[in-house]
Amino acid sequence: MKNQLRQFAVIGLGRFGSAASLELMRFGHSVIGIDIDAKIVNKLADQLTLAAIADATDENALKDLNISNCDATIVAIGESLEASILCVLLLKNMGISEIWAKASSKPQHTILSKIGISRIVHPEEEMGMKVAQSLNYPMVNHYMPIGYNLYVVEIKIAEKCHGISIQDLLKDVRDSIDPLLVRRKRETIKPIEPDFILELNDSLVLSGSLDILASIAPRL
Ligand code: ADP
Repeated sequence: MKNQLRQFAVIGLGRFGSAASLELMRFGHSVIGIDIDAKIVNKLADQLTLAAIADATDENALKDLNISNCDATIVAIGESLEASILCVLLLKNMGISEIWAKASSKPQHTILSKIGISRIVHPEEEMGMKVAQSLNYPMVNHYMPIGYNLYVVEIKIAEKCHGISIQDLLKDVRDSIDPLLVRRKRETIKPIEPDFILELNDSLVLSGSLDILASIAPRL
């Protein structure tokens, strides 16, 4: 299915905001990037649909930029709690419903969630957790939180598990972990039946809670 191209506004073009904007552009979407710092805006001017120097706490500036026509807005101002909160409140007043916000601290997270922002991103914390997870379970290639303490993990099957079945690998925890698919060379195999036999270098994708997933690590 072809992804529908959409229009986004990214407010605050620091490391997080600029990386998010450029990635959205790479996917072919339109991005209006906004920052109060002219130097930052000028650096990105050629790479975004529109790059504007504006104070995101100024309601008229946001209106002039037609932010309310965007499908979603990312508020990536971490350094100034006041500017981030004010900007989010203005966007909500303008009727923008899809707002993602970056939180750089616990108080910022608390206030953002109290004013009704459900998509709160903690880039440093999330990256730190990812690095720690990879170091802790080197066989885990990727893992992704999907909410309610549930994770999707991709596990590379090593020599130790070559030739064993899914039901043997997941014994005792079969009710708590769902095997989603196996990638074998270029092939994607699903659904995965209990008697499916794993092979060396298969990528097995599972979902479950982190503690239960961690409990099978010694078997891998
Ligand atoms: P990162 O850690 O991702 O680099 P920062 O929180 O340090 O993020 O950067 C935030 C960006 O937001 C900076 O580029 C800063 O100039 C911009 N910014 C701060 N206040 C405002 C504001 N009122 N309006 C628009 N941009 C702002």
